[in-house]
Amino acid sequence: MKKHLVFVGGGHAHLTALLNLKNYVDLGHRVTLISSSDYHYYSGMGPGMLSGIYRPQEIRFHISKLAEDRGASFLKDSVERINPLQRTLSLKSGNTVEYDVVSFNTGSEVPSDTLHMTGENIFTVKPIINLLKARQYILKAVRQREMRIIVIGGGPAGVEIAGNVWRLLQDNKGKAEILFISGAKLLKNLPEKVGSLVRSSFHERDIRIIEGSHTKRMEKNLVVLDDGSEIPFDVAFIATGVRPASLFKDSGLATGEEGGLLVNSCLQSVDHPEIFGGGDCISLEGHPLA
Ligand SMILES: Cc1cc2nc3c(=O)[nH]c(=O)nc-3n(C[C@H](O)[C@H](O)[C@H](O)COP(=O)(O)OP(=O)(O)OC[C@H]3O[C@@H](n4cnc5c(N)ncnc54)[C@H](O)[C@@H]3O)c2cc1C
Repeated sequence: MKKHLVFVGGGHAHLTALLNLKNYVDLGHRVTLISSSDYHYYSGMGPGMLSGIYRPQEIRFHISKLAEDRGASFLKDSVERINPLQRTLSLKSGNTVEYDVVSFNTGSEVPSDTLHMTGENIFTVKPIINLLKARQYILKAVRQREMRIIVIGGGPAGVEIAGNVWRLLQDNKGKAEILFISGAKLLKNLPEKVGSLVRSSFHERDIRIIEGSHTKRMEKNLVVLDDGSEIPFDVAFIATGVRPASLFKDSGLATGEEGGLLVNSCLQSVDHPEIFGGGDCISLEGHPLA
């Protein structure tokens, strides 16, 4: 009997499978891709889009076209709940999709509980489209005044963001103070030399660094650090780490410590073999994240 194969999310982990969708369609199976956007933005080039090194159309995949050109259906929607016993997916639109086999590639997000703050001047580094919105916001605001831009988070994503904000301002003759706030030691998981190179590169560019201070609280235009100091800002980037969305946990599926779908070495849910997952949204059984 022919099956309905559903792909949820058209990110990095699904791209090769999406390129080969025709293999399933040619066998007579029905294939559907569900994603909240027609496009997927490649994260490795996202910071370069922020500065303007790349144009948005140079770093994105047209995933709806990719699916439809290969005979699959595309649903612009988002999965809010998995009902494994009924083999259905509940979508944000209120619709329900039945599946025989489903594969998740829903990636990761900056947890919303991190700093309890949203606003038009505050940008989490995921989804990557936020970096385009940040670029547009900064370009508009910097014409009117000198700005204070902060980047919170001491990992590679934060470093790339700070460097590319600097480039954006340079290329557009904008004036801003850039402050990089690293809760722990800058790039603590990488060799010491990498951190030293970043420190001297930031120093040359007048990007100030605060290391070892956690952000305790955030208001619309102010962050408060755990030592009590208050730092005003016009634009903030939040790069404090990512984890899978709560979709799997909320749906009652077995998950790893961080909430990723718990899968075996064939990338199948340990509870339901017809549910697969790949990329940032999974936890591999027996392989805790480093
Ligand atoms: C600024 C930045 C730079 C980075 N640079 C690099 C780098 O240079 N090299 C590197 O290896 N890694 C880099 N990373 C990490 C990298 O982004 C992730 O590891 C990678 O994106 C994970 O790919 P994925 O396929 O799991 O998910 P993603 O590529 O994030 O794809 C997930 C997709 O699922 C969709 N989706 C999510 N939820 C739902 C839902 N409920 N329903 C339907 N669709 C949904 C999303 O819209 C998205 O299209 C970077 C991260 C950031 C933030």
